[in-house]
Amino acid sequence: MPPTATLADIKAHQRKVEKDKITPYNLPPCPRCRVESEFFKIHAYRERRFLIIIEMLIKAAYCSLVRFKCPGCNKTFTDYPDFAIPHKHYTRPSITGFSASYLQSDDMTYQQAVMVDNSAPGYPQSDSSEAPTLAPTTIHRWITTLGRFTQTCRTALILLLQENPVSSICRDLARLIIPQRKYKTIQRKKQLTGCQHLVIIEAFFQATFKTSIFTKLATRCAFS
Ligand SMILES: [Zn+2]
Repeated sequence: MPPTATLADIKAHQRKVEKDKITPYNLPPCPRCRVESEFFKIHAYRERRFLIIIEMLIKAAYCSLVRFKCPGCNKTFTDYPDFAIPHKHYTRPSITGFSASYLQSDDMTYQQAVMVDNSAPGYPQSDSSEAPTLAPTTIHRWITTLGRFTQTCRTALILLLQENPVSSICRDLARLIIPQRKYKTIQRKKQLTGCQHLVIIEAFFQATFKTSIFTKLATRCAFS
């Protein structure tokens, strides 16, 4: 089974939006002016297209995301459901799952990392052309994106250590080695390290707070 959010996850979020069940109360305060999130107002609803994998086929599913506005400084924030990653159409389980599979072993290649049980998830066949599949370069791009959330990771790490000061997470992060064959530039090494950190912190975060860092830290999900 390829890692993916399900259609049920996306429909459940849409129902929550329609029933006004999405609230800003659990978000951190505004990072710009420190106004507490309980004072945030609903600013807009944006329809977003997500790509999920159903029986090895990549399909589009739509739901609304809520945007909040800080009354102190007018900064706006998107509420990210547990399955979403800022700026991405594929869902968090797919993006972190395929990226983690590339990072998990020294000799894993991007070509191998897209494969699930000997085939890659495909796009539904169009009339003329052969149906394309999830591309190895897509995973390369996902790792670039995940590697850029360093500020979000730092904030998440602080929350984790506040919750559990004796957590093994710092040891786990310090022990990481990115195999030399996976990068040719220092910049790529940084992206791979950042992505690996995010995957580990996200796993600890899910275990501790039962939610994704992107959901809990929605006001802090900027790239640094
Ligand atoms: Zn503000």
